[in-house]
Amino acid sequence: MNELFDLYQELIIDHSKSPKNFGALKNKTHHAKGHNPLCGDKIELELMVEDGLIKAIAFKGEGCAIARATASLMTEAVKEKSINEALELFSGFKAMLVDECDDVKGLGKLSALKGVRQFPMRIKCATLCWHALNAAIKDDLSQVCTE
Ligand code: ZN
Repeated sequence: MNELFDLYQELIIDHSKSPKNFGALKNKTHHAKGHNPLCGDKIELELMVEDGLIKAIAFKGEGCAIARATASLMTEAVKEKSINEALELFSGFKAMLVDECDDVKGLGKLSALKGVRQFPMRIKCATLCWHALNAAIKDDLSQVCTE
């Protein structure tokens, strides 16, 4: 884990230690659960969507530093965004980690997670919350699993 932390920017460590938007929503309209059995990460994601916009988003669960930091950064990135913009961010994020694209635009702070792509096992930790977001948006209430 230490060599992995060497790659981390302070931003990731901060977000994993004190995640933003951690908890539950009172007025959720969409939700999904995600599980990454390889690492043991579990997430529950709740959204309040109004007029196609993600008005509020929160997550809870247990996970490794990468899973927590990504979920925290993701919730910040997609809040006040439209569903389509959120899905575009997911595509961009996957392009950065899975396809190793270096010129993905618009990822903002999420680019801090780029180093994760050197650790293929950890990519699933970083994409778990996005898969849950995708499932929640698509109203698929079944649990998503990275396997
Ligand atoms: Zn993990």
